[in-house]
Amino acid sequence: MSSPLVLNGNKHASLTNSLVILIFSQEISNCQKNAGSLGQTPHLCQRYNPLAMNLEIKLPRSIFDNIITQARDERPQECCGLIGGRNLQASNRYPLRNRSPQPETRYFAAPEDLFEAMKWMRDADEDLIGIYHSHPCGPAYPSQTDIELAFYPQAVYLIVTLEPETEMRAFHINAREVIEIAIVVVD
Ligand SMILES: [Zn+2]
Repeated sequence: MSSPLVLNGNKHASLTNSLVILIFSQEISNCQKNAGSLGQTPHLCQRYNPLAMNLEIKLPRSIFDNIITQARDERPQECCGLIGGRNLQASNRYPLRNRSPQPETRYFAAPEDLFEAMKWMRDADEDLIGIYHSHPCGPAYPSQTDIELAFYPQAVYLIVTLEPETEMRAFHINAREVIEIAIVVVD
């Protein structure tokens, strides 16, 4: 699914309100703030423990590559999307259009895209296991706003950065606690 999804939006608005909250973020750590601070550990990281609890999310190579491609294609804007699957094994990627008025530093998934993606997941008997977005020129780490608005602890939050080099990292975010987990790319 490489092309944006389209659906009649308004009549589904009430159904997607909760999803809108899940996928909404205002990136406080914008490019200016991040300049020169790549690699700096945000102060909200209370228990930074890579590979904690031996959790890992398994991404087929195609999904991993397509997320990177989406991030590059939509640069300088942030990209976003969902990942469906079971037991942290990804099956499908659902790219969403970023409708934020400030898409370079924020993302707000198009409600109609969210609705359509969730419908696809239901039909495919998938769970929402991942929510991804990009930081075109910021670190691959949740911003303060990402952390504050992470309302879906069951999902893994994946963040892609493109500078200074392309990188993808994955996190569990729950009650403002951020725990990094491994990404296993399955060929
Ligand atoms: Zn972010």
